[in-house]
Parts: sequence; C-alpha cells; structure tokens
Amino acid sequence: MTFTPHGKHLIAGEWVGTDATFKSEPATGPVHDFSVGTVDLVNRACEAAEEAFWTYGYLPREKRAEFLEAIADEMEARADAITEIGSQETGLPTARLQGERGRTTGQLRLFADHIRKGDYLDRRTDGAQPDRQPAARPEIRMVQRPIGPVAVFGASNFPLAFSTAGGDTAAALAAGCPVVVKGHSAHPGTGEIVAEAVNAAIRKTGVHPGVFSLIQGGRREVGTALVQHPLIKAVGFTGSLGGGRALFDLCAQRPEPIPFFGELGSVNPMFVLPRALAARGAQMGEGWAGSLTMGAGQFCTNPGIAVVPTGAEGDAFIDATAKALKAAAPQTMLTNGIADAYRQGKDRFDTRNSVRPVVSTTSDGRSAAPNLYEVSSNAFLEDHTLGEEVFGPLGLVVRTSSPDEMVRLAKGLSGQLTATILMDDGDTDAARALLPVLERKAGRVLINGFPTGVEVVDSMVHGGPYPASTNFGATSVGTLSIRRFLRPVAFQNLPDALIEGDLA
Ligand code: NAP
Repeated sequence: MTFTPHGKHLIAGEWVGTDATFKSEPATGPVHDFSVGTVDLVNRACEAAEEAFWTYGYLPREKRAEFLEAIADEMEARADAITEIGSQETGLPTARLQGERGRTTGQLRLFADHIRKGDYLDRRTDGAQPDRQPAARPEIRMVQRPIGPVAVFGASNFPLAFSTAGGDTAAALAAGCPVVVKGHSAHPGTGEIVAEAVNAAIRKTGVHPGVFSLIQGGRREVGTALVQHPLIKAVGFTGSLGGGRALFDLCAQRPEPIPFFGELGSVNPMFVLPRALAARGAQMGEGWAGSLTMGAGQFCTNPGIAVVPTGAEGDAFIDATAKALKAAAPQTMLTNGIADAYRQGKDRFDTRNSVRPVVSTTSDGRSAAPNLYEVSSNAFLEDHTLGEEVFGPLGLVVRTSSPDEMVRLAKGLSGQLTATILMDDGDTDAARALLPVLERKAGRVLINGFPTGVEVVDSMVHGGPYPASTNFGATSVGTLSIRRFLRPVAFQNLPDALIEGDLA
C-alpha cells in the first residue's frame, strides 16, 4: 500500500492546512508538499492539550494503557506504508525501518504494561500519629502526578523511535500528559502517517482528541513558539547540541521556566586496554569500523573515539580499522544538510596540525564515506573541539602512553551517552581505575561490545552529563523515562472520601 501524504497538520483530531507549503526532500521517491506550521496552530494545539489534560490526566491507568496499545496496533496496520515512506524520506534501508517500527510499537506496549503495574507512582504513606508529643502528626500521602502538556521534538536519524510516536511521546502519554509534536522537516510524510495512526487510536479508544497534535515544518518559528507557550509544562527533545541548547535556553528564560529534557549528541569513547589489544587488536579494529559505519555513522551512540595505547599493537589496531573503513562503500545520509555538516566536521580535523589523517576520503551530494584520524592524548586534551560530535562515519584514535594517561584523558572528557571498556581478564586493574571516572562521565558504561544498539528495558539509561543531555538525572529510553513527565505531590490529612484513583 503506497501512502500519499496530504501534507496537513493534525490539531486535536482535525487535519488542518495552511497557505504556505514546503517540499519534502526524500532520498528516493516522489517529492510531496506540506503545509508550513504557524504560531496560530501552536496556540490551538496547546489550548486543546490543556483542555484534554483535565480528563486524560485523570483517566484510569487501564484506559491510558489501552490507548498506547491501540497506537501500536494502528502503526502495525500501516506497517508497509510506514516503511516505504520512511525509507524514501531518510534513505535508511527497509530492514532498518522495519526494526525501528518494532522498537517503537514495543516501547508503546512496554509503557502500557508499566503503568498497569503502578509501581512508577512510587506511592508513600506516613500514617497519622494523633498522640505524638509535643504535636500530633498528620497523615501524609505522596504520589506522582502528570505535569501537563508536553512538547516533543524528534530527531532525523530515528524517524519512528525518537519521533512522532517515539519514546518521548509514549512516556508522556503513559504519564497522563497530552503531547504536541513539532514534526521533523526531514521526514514529514513519516510523521503524517504515524499521526494518522495516533488519531485512529484516539477515535478507537475515545480519549480526548487534544491529547495529540502534530505541527509540520515552520522551522524555528514553530519550535520557538512551542517551547515558550505558557501551557507547555516540559519539553522532550532529541537532536543536535546546537538546536537543543537554543531551545533549552528559551525554556530557562520563560517567565515560568520549565524542564527541558534534551537528548543530544555524544562521541561515545572506547578505551582499548593493553591485554585485550594484544590478544585481539585486529578483530576489535574491524569491529569498531563496522560500528562506526553502521547507518552511515548517524547514531547518537556512534563510537567516534577509540583511546588506544601507543606501540606496535596499537598500530596494528589502527591498520585493521583503516583497512576495513577503506573497504566500506559510501552511504546515503539522512539529509543534504547533514551530509554538508559531516564534511564541515571533517574539515575541522583536516585543519589541525596536531591531527594525522589515517583514512581521508571525499564525498559529495548526500553521500558520506568514512574518515579516520589519529592524535596524541596531550593534543586532544588541549583542543576541546576534537571531542565534539561529527555526525557520521568519522573516527578519531587518541594514543596514550600509560594507564595513568588513559585515566587522565578520561577525566578530561565531557559528558557522554556511553563509555566503553574493551578488556580481557588481565586488564582488570586498569579497568578498575577507569570505572569510577567513566561512571561520572556517561549514562551507560559498557564492558566489551559496541554502544550502538540501545535495549528498551526497565534498567536502561540513555542520557548522561551535559552535553550528552541537558538533564543528567534522566533517561529518554526505558521505563524510567516516564519520571521526566511526573511531579510528586504530597496530600496531607485527606479525608477517606477523597482518597480515590491513583491515591488509593
Ligand atoms: P536537529 O537538527 O537539532 O533537529 C531536531 C529537531 O529540533 C527538529 O525538529 C528541528 O527542526 C528542531 N530544531 C533544531 N534547532 C532548533 C531551533 N534552534 N529552534 C527551533 N527548533 C529547532 O537534530 P537532527 O539532525 O534531527 O538529529 C541529529 C542529532 O541528534 C545528532 O546530533 C544525534 O547525535 C542526535 N541524537 C541524539 C539522540 C539521543 O538519544 N541522545 C538520539 C538520536 C539523535 P527542523 O525540523 O525544522 O529542522
């Protein structure tokens, strides 16, 4: 079934067009026209979301769980059409889109189960002590309450799992918060068909239509108006450091500042320890090249930096990585702008005298070929720009001359989504020295393996100290992510007649 987008915005159950249009820029397939979002639409969506909150926020959890499951069902009913338009718009392969859809529907169902269990409410009751001296103690009950309408911004590289009905939307809807999505300009048709699925689920389950709106395009004007709207109570954002920081600052400057949960970029350093390097350096180098080029390197968990001891064994690791990268074919990037930004990132390395090119490629248009560079630990620590994310298949090897230097380098890193130690049993002491440093730097610490691939489970943390995220106490993947859209409220001396719903 081929899907042809009508190009409208979904505002509280109604598809609405505007006069101005923009064109999609698919990697393959037909170009489509989409209405440009406006501040007026932002106002309408936020007002409808606030109205919906008064019923949706207080629905029995079972009803919200059924709504989440209905969204998953409706996405599956449109499975082939979602894959087709998603693949056309992003250039990502069909199998990747199919897998990502499974992850997205899995997230929705995971949250349905999670809220049914009710543990996330973290209910606490301290009984009354009427005879306590010198003063009686009242009964106090605490419960987590939804915070109100939430704005969601998705990322170009996950058109399903971190977009319209992705993790932030699922977590907010599970918590009881209506959602207004700023559609991503890189995949508007994918956004539209997923919004159709959400709208069908709204009709099927009878929840208030204001629980979900999608505003397409409009670029900065729409995003800016959305995060500044007084009825929006939190923002879930997945995207670049520049965009995230700009919107975070706007949230902080509001008359009523609100939390901004930005999941941003990261270089995800890997520390290759000496015994593992000696035992299987070439194999690890090939594995790194595979991880670095997966999805044209367009993952927030892409391992962009390998920290490797100096010496012949480290050289062999670099040689194996370089050989595998040279054999990798150029890949299509998500947008023309991302391909341009990748080339600018490479230029940054090419203009540094301290950096040695190991594999240097050229590419044009929307394609990218891998690049590899090498730098000493001291030069890396002196130039913080070398630690900034280049979104794409670019790797940097940082050479260290001792275990202490590796720890010093780790201490000099900025916040990361992940940090990886590649080790054997004989490396345990070196790993023990690194571990406390890395846990202060990253949301997830891995031993062996590669960080691309994020399990959606209760124990996952996908976040980390700034600049990996703007809120180091939170995760955007896994059930703990619901906590971002909840607020604890204590109720003192409630009469029995008012102890109902989630308070009971
Ligand atoms: P992006 O360019 O920052 O776009 C994300 C969204 O924010 C888009 O809807 C964009 O609007 C909007 N936006 C950006 N800057 C804005 C501004 N100043 N004002 C208003 N709206 C603004 O990011 P992207 O290219 O989609 O995604 C790639 C980045 O996301 C990479 O850095 C990657 O590492 C990161 N990422 C992080 C995670 C994570 O979980 N940490 C996951 C995936 C990706 P338009 O559509 O109009 O441009």
